[in-house]
Amino acid sequence: MKKEFKQLLSDKGRKKLPDVLLAAAECAPLSKTGGLADVVGTLPKSLKELGIDARVITPYHRCIKDKYSASVEHLFGFYVNLGWRTQYCGIERLVLEGVIIYLVDNEFYFGDKIYKGGYEEGEQYAFFTRAVLEALPKLDFAPEVVNCNDWHTAMLPMLAKTQYAEKYGSVRWLLTIHNIAFQGKFGFDYVQDLLSVDEKYYTSEFMELNGCASFLKAGCVFADRINTVSPTYAEEIKTAYFGEGLEGILSARTNELSGIINGIDVKSFNPYADTEIAANYHKGRLSGKKLCKLSLQEQMGLECREDVPLFAMVTRMTEQKGFELVQFMLDELMSYNDMQFIMLGTGDKEYEDFMRGAEARYKGRLCAYIGYNEALSHKVYSGADFLLMPSRFEPCGLSQMIAMRYGTLPIVRETGGLKDSVIPYNRYTGEGNGFSFADFNAHEMKDAILLALECYSKPETMQALIRNAMEADFSFKKSAEEYARLYICML
Ligand code: ADP
Repeated sequence: MKKEFKQLLSDKGRKKLPDVLLAAAECAPLSKTGGLADVVGTLPKSLKELGIDARVITPYHRCIKDKYSASVEHLFGFYVNLGWRTQYCGIERLVLEGVIIYLVDNEFYFGDKIYKGGYEEGEQYAFFTRAVLEALPKLDFAPEVVNCNDWHTAMLPMLAKTQYAEKYGSVRWLLTIHNIAFQGKFGFDYVQDLLSVDEKYYTSEFMELNGCASFLKAGCVFADRINTVSPTYAEEIKTAYFGEGLEGILSARTNELSGIINGIDVKSFNPYADTEIAANYHKGRLSGKKLCKLSLQEQMGLECREDVPLFAMVTRMTEQKGFELVQFMLDELMSYNDMQFIMLGTGDKEYEDFMRGAEARYKGRLCAYIGYNEALSHKVYSGADFLLMPSRFEPCGLSQMIAMRYGTLPIVRETGGLKDSVIPYNRYTGEGNGFSFADFNAHEMKDAILLALECYSKPETMQALIRNAMEADFSFKKSAEEYARLYICML
């Protein structure tokens, strides 16, 4: 065990690291729609390396059943009361890379869709919450810290403290906010009907927000500690612009709120060993990256030219990701500069259609792949020169870190985790591992892109920036150590 942890533990009069359970709606590689899954899949592995027994509890979605059912062991089944409903709940166990994952089984709630949307999603995750609280005392594992993630699991601390006080008196609850824009807001009657929450909690002091009951607000009020996925985002969400109505409670709890930047799975995202990409490479020998670029251009129907700067985006196509700026500036950029552009993403129809239109206008120079494709994302990260992320807000962001790991320079807006992970190029000192702009403004974005183009024309500058990007340490080890510190502090 690290000396520092020994000291922290002895200050608490303890010798043993805490046992931790992560509760989340998705967990990679079992189920994934975004960055949350990556964190929940990777963090426990890194915590284990530090000596913490970290396990996961997550729904047994259809996509997991289809792939892993042969390796899953049935532990027990019981019935869960959800208001007037009585629903079956199976608890299954899967061991993946040494990490124990408990799967909550119910085919009515957990089928094809990880998130059913709207009120159905409320019932889905109210069931999950109730199932977790009922299942935990029956497990052969008694976590001292439960790490909840986002609104889907944010009701756990409140229910544990108000409805299960005798069972969970000694458990500490950490709420990790991956994206405050998703809150789980429902009518009071609905929450009452599902989870029998006492009426006295439907006030602004507890879970009321804009006339609704907010699951995330309940988590912010009742969790023992709150953290989010980057130090900058932890500051931002205390302001009205980013806080989505929770800035008050978060400012009031500022001493219990912190930010820990996520890492990435450096084993799966490794240009030296990645089997998805056309050629492997490392920072000392970048010739493979050139082959990756040519192969990507060919696959995506772009002109195969090594000399043209290739920009890419790998993203959900939503307002959060700064698509307005791209819509506004794309034609100007494409018309006046010799550049190529690849869009890999899916999301709002308006943005998808815009990109399809752009593909038709710039055949051979711009390709829009509308869809989710993990294998292709590796090819894009390795083959592109620049990755654009002009996000309106970005709690942490993984794509920019993955891009840097592949020597692809990020161009980002200075917000949340983008600000914490990208060091902007400084033309006077040569420092930096990417490019950034401060305001959510299309012309500022354009200036950052023009600076990137200027650097592209200077091979030595590019080489130095690529080296810096590839040298940055985004392993989960660093984040896991910070989580371990936080868990210990909570004891
Ligand atoms: P968010 O969680 O807000 O969507 P992040 O940058 O934190 O954004 O994480 C996004 C993750 O999903 C990254 O691993 C990225 O490579 C992946 N991803 C996003 N869109 C796609 C897509 N269309 N195809 C493949 N992977 C994608």
